[in-house]
Amino acid sequence: MSKHDVTVIGLGPMGRAMASAFLSRGYRVTVWNRTSGKADELVGAGAHRVATVHGALAASELVILSLTDHHAMYAVLESATEALSGRVLVNLSSDTPESARRAARWASGHGARYLTGGVQASPPGIGQPGFSTFYSGPKEVFDAHREALEVLTGTDYRGEDPGLAALYYQVGMDLFWTTVLGWLHALALADAHGVSAEEILPSASSVLSGMPDFLTFYTQRIDAGEYPGDIERLAMGVASADHVLQTAKDAGVDTSLPTAVLEIFRRGTAAGHADDSATSLIEVLKRPTA
Ligand code: NDP
Repeated sequence: MSKHDVTVIGLGPMGRAMASAFLSRGYRVTVWNRTSGKADELVGAGAHRVATVHGALAASELVILSLTDHHAMYAVLESATEALSGRVLVNLSSDTPESARRAARWASGHGARYLTGGVQASPPGIGQPGFSTFYSGPKEVFDAHREALEVLTGTDYRGEDPGLAALYYQVGMDLFWTTVLGWLHALALADAHGVSAEEILPSASSVLSGMPDFLTFYTQRIDAGEYPGDIERLAMGVASADHVLQTAKDAGVDTSLPTAVLEIFRRGTAAGHADDSATSLIEVLKRPTA
């Protein structure tokens, strides 16, 4: 076993891209997947396919997991826990911070060391410059395997807590999915008026390209717990959110998203923030829905 041996378990689009990247950099790559046929092309490119999870774990110290979630990880590894001792599991499957901490304890209980990863690239970006993956877990384990991990993407080590990489990843996904849904709703509104996605592209891009400045301006205030209504007031935001909802109703499109937005704005008003900035809504969002 050398430092250029790596096992990839899970050969969806992401795992296949990762195994290919390792092969193209001269690594000896062992692969296992529940649906064995997904390894065919990789085998053609030089990967070693093994028939059992036990064989996959035995082949390399460094084991990359690219599975749908942590349920899939347990489903795969429970059958071969005796082969986990001495292995470094790098779990690049999406799941929650709590689940990542549980998985790290579980792996450690079987004698394996464990890193959590959150990949910020789609499969075509793997092995290409300009992408990064959050990692967390024991620093010495990360340092020992950093060179191999950087075959996949750049690395962004977040700390010892195995939940941190999952947290940073899920924060990104929270922003991503709510933004995508907001964009799709806006396109539905435009479509109801005969305006195409292409026609909306410049104004949609302009709104989103202003966001980094907006975030930068408000970040310090939010960390300080200050929400002065010197630039915009929540009361104005309530009226604006209501205009979006009424526009959606008039257009006959789905209103669930603007209804939810307006409801949160109104809770902010009820909590006494009408004269504060709309960023005061973070105080509403920090608490569970009553
Ligand atoms: P897929 O869901 O397409 O592939 C997941 C893999 O998990 C497959 O190999 C599948 O096996 C396996 N799997 C799922 N459930 C089980 C189970 N119960 N037992 C055994 N194997 C199981 O995901 P991707 O390849 O697209 O992504 C992998 C991970 O990377 C995910 O966590 C995803 O969130 C994350 N990710 C993906 C990105 C993307 O753009 N694709 C971007 C960033 C992160 P089988 O082939 O047999 O079904």
